[in-house]
Amino acid sequence: MRSEARDDGDPAVDAGSRRGLAVSLEGVSRSYPRGQETVRALDGVSLTVRPGELSLVLGPSGGGKSTLMHLLGGMDRPTAGRVVAGTAVTSQLSPDRLSAWRRTHVGFVFQSFHLLPHLTAAENVALPMVLGGRRRAPARRRALDVLGRVGLGDRASHRPGELSGGQAQRVAVARALAADPPVILADEPTGHLDSQSGQEILGLLRDLAHGDGRTVVVVSHNEEFAALADRVVRVRDGRIVADSAPGEAAAGGRLGPSAGTLMGMAGSAALRRAWRSILTGLGVTVGVAAMVLLVSIGAGIEHRVVAAVLDQASLSSVLVSPTKGAGISLGQAGATQGAARPIGAAQIAAFSRLPGVRAAYTQPAFLATAAVGGRARTVEIQALPPATLWDGTTGVTLPTLVAGNLPGLSRPGIVLPESAADALFGVVQGQEAGLVGRTVRVTLSGAIRGSSISAIASAAAHPQNMVLTGVGRASLGGAAAQVRNSLALRWATLATPKGAVVDYGGAVVVAASANDVQGVTQAIGDLGFGATTAGDIVGRIQTVFGVLETALGVIGGIALVVAGLMIAVVMSMAVLERSREIGVLRALGARRSDVFTLFLSEAAFIGFAGGIVGDILGWALGKLGALLFHQAGIFLVPLWLILLGLGFGGAVAILAGAVPAGRAARLNPVEALRAE
Ligand code: ADP
Ligand code: MG
Repeated sequence: MRSEARDDGDPAVDAGSRRGLAVSLEGVSRSYPRGQETVRALDGVSLTVRPGELSLVLGPSGGGKSTLMHLLGGMDRPTAGRVVAGTAVTSQLSPDRLSAWRRTHVGFVFQSFHLLPHLTAAENVALPMVLGGRRRAPARRRALDVLGRVGLGDRASHRPGELSGGQAQRVAVARALAADPPVILADEPTGHLDSQSGQEILGLLRDLAHGDGRTVVVVSHNEEFAALADRVVRVRDGRIVADSAPGEAAAGGRLGPSAGTLMGMAGSAALRRAWRSILTGLGVTVGVAAMVLLVSIGAGIEHRVVAAVLDQASLSSVLVSPTKGAGISLGQAGATQGAARPIGAAQIAAFSRLPGVRAAYTQPAFLATAAVGGRARTVEIQALPPATLWDGTTGVTLPTLVAGNLPGLSRPGIVLPESAADALFGVVQGQEAGLVGRTVRVTLSGAIRGSSISAIASAAAHPQNMVLTGVGRASLGGAAAQVRNSLALRWATLATPKGAVVDYGGAVVVAASANDVQGVTQAIGDLGFGATTAGDIVGRIQTVFGVLETALGVIGGIALVVAGLMIAVVMSMAVLERSREIGVLRALGARRSDVFTLFLSEAAFIGFAGGIVGDILGWALGKLGALLFHQAGIFLVPLWLILLGLGFGGAVAILAGAVPAGRAARLNPVEALRAE
């Protein structure tokens, strides 16, 4: 048999049915409800179309010819009777099995060509193969092959609009042949053609029956064609009224198109309507950008505040304040309401003897005037942690310097914050290295305890020359000048009136390890002092910012919901507008799930694209804002936020696209084809 020579080894189709396939209608009726009554489009028809023959179905309009074709080709189901193709009862297949069967067994040719106008001839022909899961390159080769076969080898890259009616119908025939189906069904293929082109198309179709041995059925109401057919079946009022050669049939299909293929098609569909896709995606872009921008600014500020806290106290430090249960203070001492207890040297020594304590110290702070030449500025001076704890193993944090070093032992030295140093010496930012070693005249004016400032004894108020040993990086809440701990302790003694106990107003207790922090905090509390860990402060800051960032994210999220509604509306319109395209895809064998995937992918494509642009936009706006307001660190975009933006954009689009995609998938292929 010819079929053996041409068999390319497709396991889904047995060699015997390769070229042609007998298809039978057995007592088939198809009725449609119309108002109260039902219209019988077909009424108990039995007919077998055979391989190697061109069967011509003739009859007046409304006689049931199209209905008959749809039933033969598995585009529709009978209301009574069975349809049998080879060994398969196609009228009993599930919708998906039927789609798969149709894709591999039937090629349709329609009156109005139904070529997709945005695809070239070759792409139109390749479409059913791509839907069948073939790769693009072999599909294209095969498309060029069959286009050659119908005499259009030189028109492969033309679009339907650039072809004559006859040529367009040849492309449609080539498309019907692409998947090499055993059955070709042509419903009034010559209806829109002049008689010359009509004859040519009929000749071409007859070659497919005679040359290849395919089963070819052609519907017409043109009596002229009767002479060209092997068999003429006349249909009128839903019945067969004459048959020139009456006489007296395998399912299973390949996998459908890959998800990648469908997504590629969806992507190009979205790009084809670029402008509309952009407008639709814009909603997602705005939502994602707003989310990224707002949450990033929240995260940036949080980061700064936490950094400022950790600048002052490490996680293993416990900040001791004079009052138990006092509020949080970022400085060394707590608020002073309630029964405040003095924290003096004896008390600090007691703290250092508590179990789990590595060291206890205090960081007295002062208000002072710093002067250089004629320039003067008020600065806050804070004691550094004791030098014995600078070795890096204690978790004690030291200020970050932009120039110079921390004060040494030899001469009284001071570290000024960047802004104060620049102002006093009249230099601009970046030139601080040249200031190291210069002299600053410092006059103490008050002692800072917690949030209050108290007067100092006159003994401490003499101006003194100090060496500027370094310049500290300015940070939120960390813009104090720094001196050695021992010097500050001496100042604190001088500042206290003779005979009075030196009250430092606060202390820092360093736990031996992170595990000891809890116990140390407890023990300090038991002694009647307030104890706050940096971890507590950071935790509370993070809680507050977490709420803030969530609120900001929700605001961005609302924009995303609106974007989702927009996508739903646009996709619903697209389904209406593209009914015919959906019909063609279904006729070419696309399953309902394929159509669903196609539309859902298109929505997802728009959503993800909008999300990516939104991520970039939000990030760029944040960077721009940070630049404009000279707040480089204020805008932090964590990776999770970028991914979240993308994920939200895609998820909103997919949710919004699901309903219209479902509607598209449920469209009846026959009705979809009728839509204009
Ligand atoms: P033909 O192709 O021979 O012109 P059809 O098979 O299209 O005829 O239609 C046969 C009859 O069935 C006509 O009366 C037509 O109006 C009716 N019919 C076909 N399809 C539908 C449908 N989807 N809903 C209602 N009536 C239909
Ligand atoms: Mg018809």
